[in-house]
Amino acid sequence: MGDEAQKRNTDCVYFLASPLTCKKGTDCEYRHSEAARVNPRDCWFWISGNCLNANCSFRHPVGSLIACRITTLHF
Ligand SMILES: [Zn+2]
Ligand SMILES: [Zn+2]
Repeated sequence: MGDEAQKRNTDCVYFLASPLTCKKGTDCEYRHSEAARVNPRDCWFWISGNCLNANCSFRHPVGSLIACRITTLHF
């Protein structure tokens, strides 16, 4: 998965705060998912490295992939 695809699957922090906060709308490079916005749970697949479901209704927080990679390096 490239960085661009990864970005598109990462939740927009502005959108999560409120759908009206992100002015980019559909042009935003981050994910705008209403289902994920109202769901407080983080996506297990995302946290563990990758989630291929573009319509995933769980949260895809920023930075979790990086944190995961750092953790992986220690093993
Ligand atoms: Zn956005
Ligand atoms: Zn997911």
